[in-house]
Amino acid sequence: MAVPEKEELSPDIMLAFYKRLYPFNSIFNWLNQDLVASRLFTHREFAFTLANDAYLRYQSFNNAADMKKQVLSMNPTRFEIGPVYTAKPRDRKLIRPGAFTPQLRELVFDIDMTDYDPIRTCCSGADICRRCWGFITAAVKVIDAAIRDQYGFEHLLWVYSGRRGIHLWISDTEALELTDEQRKAITNWMSVVPHGNESGKKVNVRYGARALPACLKDAVDQLKGIFAELVLEDQDCFGSEDGFEALLKLIPDSSIAAALGELWSNDPSRPSADKWDDIKKQMKKYERNSMPRTVMTNALEDIVLQYTYPRLDAEVSKRRNHLLKAPFCIHPKTGRVCVPVDPSEIDSFDPMSVPTVQQLLRELDEAGAAPANEKEHDWEKTSLKLYVDMLDKHNAGVMAQRPRGKKRGAEDDLSW
Ligand SMILES: [Zn+2]
Repeated sequence: MAVPEKEELSPDIMLAFYKRLYPFNSIFNWLNQDLVASRLFTHREFAFTLANDAYLRYQSFNNAADMKKQVLSMNPTRFEIGPVYTAKPRDRKLIRPGAFTPQLRELVFDIDMTDYDPIRTCCSGADICRRCWGFITAAVKVIDAAIRDQYGFEHLLWVYSGRRGIHLWISDTEALELTDEQRKAITNWMSVVPHGNESGKKVNVRYGARALPACLKDAVDQLKGIFAELVLEDQDCFGSEDGFEALLKLIPDSSIAAALGELWSNDPSRPSADKWDDIKKQMKKYERNSMPRTVMTNALEDIVLQYTYPRLDAEVSKRRNHLLKAPFCIHPKTGRVCVPVDPSEIDSFDPMSVPTVQQLLRELDEAGAAPANEKEHDWEKTSLKLYVDMLDKHNAGVMAQRPRGKKRGAEDDLSW
């Protein structure tokens, strides 16, 4: 099939993508955590969005081949993954009311650039560029470290959303088993910057003039460099009148705020880095370790958090039955594939270089692919291979945690 450079995502393109490129087996292995189909897959909810915008919940499949067959017959524009229920979602009407409930689910996080609109200066709305992507890069670093160090989870899959955000899926057995209450507790603990309509509010992370909790202190140390580079230099967040007014509101010392307000009003476009130095100079009028100096030192740490700490869409993480777009789906507006991202390479990840479905189909054409036979994967001939390999490598780790669980179960059977 000839694929022109620019084309709307027609149903034909989507069908060709699912038929020849979508890695159903890898997605099955990832969700199922085993090669033989288990409840982790068969009792799992999928939700399809069709071309006419119809939204079909409670789809479920017996295995990867069954999933592929259903996807090809419905040809959704995208699909989402939900929890593992007490029964197969497609059989839910046969179950006694109240007995069909969500049980297991990866712990997920969703970070979207929209939440950075009040502070980024290069783009707005749906647009992103490599510069503001820096906020997402900072978020990935902080969350990846916090999840591994504070919660001890190991099986983290980061997935680019295809447009302006990133998702995290955590597949550790202990993460799958978290109750909604536990998910809420973790999410609240990690929601430092108020979200949505509240985003203008200050971070509220310490008691009085006390030091930050140790885990946030670690994050601040990690974020100070990013703050200088991204917020002060690249984004120049305080380089406009609106920008510095927002900053002044975060300065608790009224005499310092008044002095800075006067200075900056006379030179509104004074670069952010110079304005930051102005604050530090002002602080020095107070003795080291004096209360007003401590209050200001704390305020600067809080400002670093406010401008760089991950802004989570908390509602996504709090409940097991929240649906989230599946990896390797196509973003309907950009045509880009939702590909896995290696957090250790996040600095060099460029969302603009992620392949589009049109590009992948062109690559297939150029490879002169023979008609697909069942054993051969067409994605191996395209730039999608890199990303499928990443998921397969991740899956090997996810599946390796299973035998330990089984063994533990066997020991339990022999108990007295
Ligand atoms: Zn931008």
